[in-house]
Amino acid sequence: MKTIFEKIRDKEIPSYMIYEDDVSMAFLDISQATKGHTLVVSKTAYENMLETPDDVVSHLFVVAKKIAIVLKQSLQPKGFNILSNVGTVAGQTIFHVHVHIIPRYEEDDISLAFHPNTSDKNFDALLKSIQAALS
Ligand code: AMP
Repeated sequence: MKTIFEKIRDKEIPSYMIYEDDVSMAFLDISQATKGHTLVVSKTAYENMLETPDDVVSHLFVVAKKIAIVLKQSLQPKGFNILSNVGTVAGQTIFHVHVHIIPRYEEDDISLAFHPNTSDKNFDALLKSIQAALS
């Protein structure tokens, strides 16, 4: 079964397409979390960023940078959040890799604050288990 983004790619459902090339497409997110909220989507339906080939990941972020520059010029946001959700717990709802470009304005209602974790932190043990997975 096709993902909703494959249906957009194949023009089976409408979109507000900003940009397209052989590997990617960028269109306005239907939710418009902030004015100009845009998705950069791989034309091939990889499940998420971790399942996506490196060259495609690179391409998506280079396109995201270019689109963000265009949005900065056209909409004058004060900044951006540029991110890709991986997994349901992280808020991913469409399992077809995409990068969110979320323009940020002084008076918007987005909250992406990272609060310090109050539980015990054992940095040595943490580093050890991460580095064990590197080898
Ligand atoms: P995520 O929650 O990271 O998987 O993001 C999926 C995004 O796709 C959400 O921000 C939705 O608003 C957006 N979305 C869902 N359907 C459409 C659509 N038909 N056109 C544009 N954006 C969509």
